[in-house]
Amino acid sequence: MPKIIFEGEEYQCEPGESVLDCLLRQGVSVNYSCKAGVCQTCMMVAEEGEPTPASQVGIKETLKASQHFLICSCQPQTDMRVAIPERVGSSFETTVLAKEPLSADVIRLRLARPDNYDYLPGQFLNLTNDAGVTRSYSLASLPQEDEFLECHIRHIPGGRVSGWVAEKLQLGDTVTISQASGQCSYLPGREEQPLLLVGTGTGLAPLFGIARDALQQGHRGPIHLYHGSSTPEGLYLVDELRAMDEAHENFHYHSCVSRGEAPAGMRSGRAADLALEDHPQLSGWRVFLCGREDMVKGLQKKTFLAGAGMQDIFADPFIDSSASGEDQTAA
Ligand SMILES: Cc1cc2nc3c(=O)[nH]c(=O)nc-3n(C[C@H](O)[C@H](O)[C@H](O)COP(=O)(O)OP(=O)(O)OC[C@H]3O[C@@H](n4cnc5c(N)ncnc54)[C@H](O)[C@@H]3O)c2cc1C
Repeated sequence: MPKIIFEGEEYQCEPGESVLDCLLRQGVSVNYSCKAGVCQTCMMVAEEGEPTPASQVGIKETLKASQHFLICSCQPQTDMRVAIPERVGSSFETTVLAKEPLSADVIRLRLARPDNYDYLPGQFLNLTNDAGVTRSYSLASLPQEDEFLECHIRHIPGGRVSGWVAEKLQLGDTVTISQASGQCSYLPGREEQPLLLVGTGTGLAPLFGIARDALQQGHRGPIHLYHGSSTPEGLYLVDELRAMDEAHENFHYHSCVSRGEAPAGMRSGRAADLALEDHPQLSGWRVFLCGREDMVKGLQKKTFLAGAGMQDIFADPFIDSSASGEDQTAA
């Protein structure tokens, strides 16, 4: 079995084990969050040994070339010497500018945008709480328009980071965030292409950024945004999205309520189902899916089967970082 060398110590891997699990099992404290190759919190650099292709999915080409990889997604094939990268994942200290409710359980958090903080709407940042616990939140703001970074955070009672945001974080507080990362964003080009955006809950945050970005960059093809919740109260930014629908001929907002009869102006049914009913043929479309993991993964398959090319499907499952049941506290 391969061994991992980290900070001068050797750790033996068990069959099928990731580098992250190997280190955690042996009591090594390392940063991680989603454990699913999405949030990039656990990125390391391989000083010896080859990262597996799966552990480099979704990371920048420049970082791939310099042997950066995600230890949660790497089942090593050979011995590896790994290290915490120096520059990558560099963090920023920033200030809370605004914190206000968007619905009964969703908070709009606006943070000052640090100098030289580059991002694309729809990417996510990692936010670390006062106990060192890190979680990912998507960016709804537009770099060319907004001086702040905006996240929509659903308050999960007892949630270590969302609970801290809801209950403890105050205006003017200093918080630590990572650089933005992720592939779920609008890239200019193919301006006539139809876009399908489907999100549940705070999955609206990246979609709100992506839709506004596409419109601002002159996208001419139809843009259909489906936002779903079990109840009408769970939907938010309804007035803003209706106003966008009014203002742009090619933007279409569908608010979807999955439980009971929807009120006037909203649709009854699950966002994912309604989107596919309305658009059963997705050949040539670009698709963005964000929010609950089961919805995103299910719809990823269905939109592919409906004709969307794999390279045109961008998905951000909001993976429940506690699913493993382990403590996620960063070192
Ligand atoms: C790429 C990415 C982008 C994300 N973007 C956003 C975003 O824009 N807005 C947002 O609100 N969240 C987003 N998330 C989810 C977010 O990172 C956290 O997982 C979430 O806020 C819960 O963290 P916590 O520390 O508050 O709860 P934890 O302390 O991790 O969990 C507390 C309890 O809540 C349960 N739980 C955790 N997450 C959920 C959930 N989503 N639904 C129901 N129960 C849950 C856990 O199982 C546990 O029992 C994103 C996740 C990823 C991977």
